[in-house]
Amino acid sequence: MVGASSADLERAAAALRDARSVLFITGAGLSADSGLPTYRGIGGLYEASDPEEDLPIETLLSGAMMASRPELTWTYLAEIARACRGATFNRGHEVIAEVERQIERTWTLTQNVDGLHRAAGSKQLIEIHGTLHARRCTACPWRASVPDPVPETIPPRCPDCDAIVRPDVVLFNELLPEPAMEVLLRELDRGFDLVFSVGTSSAFAYIIEPVLQATEAGRTTIEINPAPTILSPHVDLRFTGGAASTLDAIWRRASATP
Ligand code: NAD
Ligand code: ZN
Repeated sequence: MVGASSADLERAAAALRDARSVLFITGAGLSADSGLPTYRGIGGLYEASDPEEDLPIETLLSGAMMASRPELTWTYLAEIARACRGATFNRGHEVIAEVERQIERTWTLTQNVDGLHRAAGSKQLIEIHGTLHARRCTACPWRASVPDPVPETIPPRCPDCDAIVRPDVVLFNELLPEPAMEVLLRELDRGFDLVFSVGTSSAFAYIIEPVLQATEAGRTTIEINPAPTILSPHVDLRFTGGAASTLDAIWRRASATP
């Protein structure tokens, strides 16, 4: 179910055919099509709060909680990691990687920490919230990539100094990684012909601004999300189907020989 008229699909396909640069902004909704829980919305983790602690997920997954009660934060991170372990990338991730191979200046700005864009073959990737597939020690310079994001113990400990290890993700109330921000600002400065916002509730300024910036510059903007967001009134085209089927439908039209 793509939730779109054939005319809108054609307009999106034409924009993709004509674009020389594309930015995909993605969120948990893209990976929902791989069976991963989103944060907000139906089945989202935000619906859950710790029954014993009665704390919201934003507190449980905050930098302060990781510092004071890492076992609690890791318990919730492990839940997300377990979901990631069983998941594989979907057609939406694949289409984004295919577009990158066809249109040289394609970038993906993702809030997802599941590693599925990389697994699908995306290379020009800005993982603005980090990844669960990397960990670092909270006390010494130890860091490592971890093929399996599920921790062996809760909390996991550093093999070098036995201090607590944390995932290389941005927890609530933490700063964004500087190298990722630098790449993002550099590429936004160059601008994009076409900007997609896919499966994100658009809760953060750095996720909203690139879309508004493109709108102001007269570039094409497309949102794919079954639920309306703060950006919905500002985009040129809005699709209310799932991310994977909608991206597939647009890409098939764009690639079809006329
Ligand atoms: P979010 O949970 O706030 O919003 C998900 C959005 O996806 C909602 O607007 C929802 O309507 C939409 N959606 C649901 N199913 C969809 C589908 N099949 N197709 C298209 N859209 C669909 O997610 P967000 O905006 O990415 O929130 C940001 C936070 O969530 C970040 O901190 C991010 O790190 C974290 N997060 C990441 C993952 C992951 O890595 N897979 C999972 C959950 C949360
Ligand atoms: Zn250490």
